[in-house]
Amino acid sequence: MNPTQSSDYRTAAVAGIGSERLQKSLHGLQDRFGKGAMKLWAGMEDREMRSRVKDSRMRTLEHLDIILAELAKNVRARGGQVYFAETGQDAIDYTIEVAKKNEVKRVVKGKSMTSMEINIDPALENEGIEVVETDLGEYIIQLAGDKPSHIIAPCIHLDRNQIGRLFTDKLGIDYTNDPPALTLAARKALREKLLSADMGLTGCNLACAETGHISLVSNEGNIRMATTMPRVLVALMGMERVVATLAEHREALQLLTRGAALQKLSTYVSFLGGPAAEDDPDGPQEFHLVIIDNGRCKILADPEFREVLACIRCGACLNICPVYGKIGGHAYNSPYCGPIGAVITPLLDGINKHADLCKGETLCGACREICPVENDLPRMLAALRHKLAYGSDRWNTRQHNPAEAYAFSFWRLLVTNAFLYRSFIAIGRIFQWPFVKKNKMIKKMAGLASGWTAHRDLPPIAGRTFSELWKEKYRTTRPAGPAAKIEEEK
Ligand code: SF4
Repeated sequence: MNPTQSSDYRTAAVAGIGSERLQKSLHGLQDRFGKGAMKLWAGMEDREMRSRVKDSRMRTLEHLDIILAELAKNVRARGGQVYFAETGQDAIDYTIEVAKKNEVKRVVKGKSMTSMEINIDPALENEGIEVVETDLGEYIIQLAGDKPSHIIAPCIHLDRNQIGRLFTDKLGIDYTNDPPALTLAARKALREKLLSADMGLTGCNLACAETGHISLVSNEGNIRMATTMPRVLVALMGMERVVATLAEHREALQLLTRGAALQKLSTYVSFLGGPAAEDDPDGPQEFHLVIIDNGRCKILADPEFREVLACIRCGACLNICPVYGKIGGHAYNSPYCGPIGAVITPLLDGINKHADLCKGETLCGACREICPVENDLPRMLAALRHKLAYGSDRWNTRQHNPAEAYAFSFWRLLVTNAFLYRSFIAIGRIFQWPFVKKNKMIKKMAGLASGWTAHRDLPPIAGRTFSELWKEKYRTTRPAGPAAKIEEEK
């Protein structure tokens, strides 16, 4: 297995950092989209829009039960069917039931990170149903048996030469690395699948409770076909992806397409809200909206983390994050990577299980600056680390590293007690000498402290501390320092 795809965070991160090709791709991505989004926000005429959308997202979360009920009522009024799934497995079971009832043999998918979150593909395939991704990037990933490495650009880690070889191998075309030729080859292969699919399976960028629609944004046009050509359409939606009114939907959409791809509007915006009416020229005969909890209610109930549900999954935070920009998306081992993945994945799938994600980000704050809805991911990452340090019953989290927690408690005691601190420095000065090398640096420390010297040398404790030098310079007790000197001069 390619080490960048290891499920171990460190292994995948080290491999990602060592991959010249990945570094080049990530640099290009962040240079264009990260810088571009920051410029875009700075130049936006409507300076209040981001705060307005954030407020409306938070307001919606506060009344989520009522707004979801309104959405369900309006979808049903349009002839659609709505199912509330408590777990990912419930959503899978329901979708399979719909597929079996309709004798579905082939499913075409698009725009669905939620489907990856609940891992529905293997379950459908176990039922003998063929599953075909139709977003170009996802299709490439599926052909390669790979995993996505970016929310919006899933195959950013592959270059066109690799994709050319993949298409020769899987689609039987002559080798080319010409992007338009490769796109045409994919288009031809996908068109056949789309024409003969029985069921479309999509996600949901946003749902509008007022009108009973879901919306999907895309730049490829596949979504239009995947949602209108098959007999049955199932849309999987995380329960937080709803807005109350069409006016709020319009503004959230404007931020989504800007944050995701620096576009004022994506090429296609599809609104779907039920089966085709009698006089519609096309559209599904059945429309099912599956609204998925899968751990979101628990997040909603915790005021410390509720804010993360305001996310509109634009992916902008990945495009500026210095950690994602080095390690790439595979290290996050989740459909949600980058800073948003580092917060949402542990909350949905276990804080202890994903402790590396909580601890891996730098807390530099760049993600908060670029986020269209100003999500304070650094604050939430710090809160997750607090749970790892002290444990949390609410989140069923145990202390991740008790030895580390004791070490820091000891450190706190030390630095808040002058006598202990001075004694420690005096003793440390003596015991450090076996570790100090010829260049007067400590090259290697032992035990818990070994991480400090794993990648750099550490200066030893100075012969005299700052406070010793200070005292010596002014040679007085209290008041000391310049204040005392001024006193003397008076
Ligand atoms: S946290 Fe903000 S920037 Fe990141 S994906 Fe969500 S909305 Fe976009």
